[in-house]
Amino acid sequence: MPPAGNDFLRLHQSLQELKKVQDQLARGPRQIQVRKKRIETAQFELDELEETLKFTRAEADKKNLDLKSKEASILELQRKLNGAASNREYQIITGQIEADTAAKAVLEDEAIEYLDRVDAIQKQIEESKSRIDDASNDAELFTKSFEEKAEGLRAKEATLKTKITESRSIIPKEVREQFQRLVEAYGPDAMAESSNGVCNNCFVSLTPQAKVMLNSGRTLFCGSCGRFLYQVDQFIEG
Ligand SMILES: [Zn+2]
Repeated sequence: MPPAGNDFLRLHQSLQELKKVQDQLARGPRQIQVRKKRIETAQFELDELEETLKFTRAEADKKNLDLKSKEASILELQRKLNGAASNREYQIITGQIEADTAAKAVLEDEAIEYLDRVDAIQKQIEESKSRIDDASNDAELFTKSFEEKAEGLRAKEATLKTKITESRSIIPKEVREQFQRLVEAYGPDAMAESSNGVCNNCFVSLTPQAKVMLNSGRTLFCGSCGRFLYQVDQFIEG
């Protein structure tokens, strides 16, 4: 007696379920990778910020040194001014003091600007660290939850595989190899239900001859898309 259409339907459903389980199992590691990449990117940004901070601090220190040396030079000029021997010398020194004082003001502004920049970078570093913490926590939680879920999924995968292997016997021996190749290529889409004389995979109508074959329980591959066709029984057997 040929297998009932519902046996094919159940095999088809098992193949569909297996695909779903395997997709979930494959998706998890990809999602974990995405999260790891997020941490790497954030860490890279932090490294760059820390480099910038080092550089900006060095620049700020340099400006402060310049400022101190400018202040010392002004003090020195003021001392010279007190001992100026002539009006001409007095004017020259006064001119130098004026120029140095203007330069000192510029240096002061620059030094403040660098200090502001250091503050801003430090704030960015704090934010970046907190982003890394968040991303790490997220990755850790996700990985843990996936690993827990994966255990169940792998068990389900094994059960389905056994069930599918067992029910392969409903596929006639002479086409079993062809069926197997289709499953390897298309997964659950190796099978297509036929209803109202149409292949549900490619939606092409079956020839009258094919319809007769299918109705009489013969094995049939769709003449258009090559899928293994089956018909669901009108009455579910008890
Ligand atoms: Zn088809």
